[in-house]
Amino acid sequence: MKKIQIDHFRQLLLTLQLELVKLSSVSVDAAKPVELDQAAIGRLTRMDAMRAQSMAIETIERRKHQLLRIGAALQRVTTGNYGECLTCGKGISSGRLEVDPSYTQCIKCAGK
Ligand SMILES: [Zn+2]
Repeated sequence: MKKIQIDHFRQLLLTLQLELVKLSSVSVDAAKPVELDQAAIGRLTRMDAMRAQSMAIETIERRKHQLLRIGAALQRVTTGNYGECLTCGKGISSGRLEVDPSYTQCIKCAGK
C-alpha cells in the first residue's frame, strides 16, 4: 500500500477513535445501575429502564471492542504492515478498508 493511502486510513482510524471516545463518555450515564426510585425514572417502567440499561452496556461493550480493533490497526500502521491480511499476508483492498479501516483480513479470508 502506498504511503499516501496509509496516511488516509490512519486519519480515518484516528477520527473513528476520537468519535468513539466521545460517544463512550456520554453513554456512561445510561449504563449506571437502574435507579429503584420510580420518581427518578419518570414515565419509564422499571423493566424499560433495565432494558435500556442492558442495551447501553451492550453498546459500550461494542465500542470498547471497536476501540481495541482501531488501536491494533494504528499499531500496524506504526509497524508498517497495515493493510495486509493477517491470515494470508496479501493486501486488503482499499475499498474494503474504506468500509472499516480496522479490518484485519482480506475479503477471501474473512469469508471463510
Ligand atoms: Zn487473506
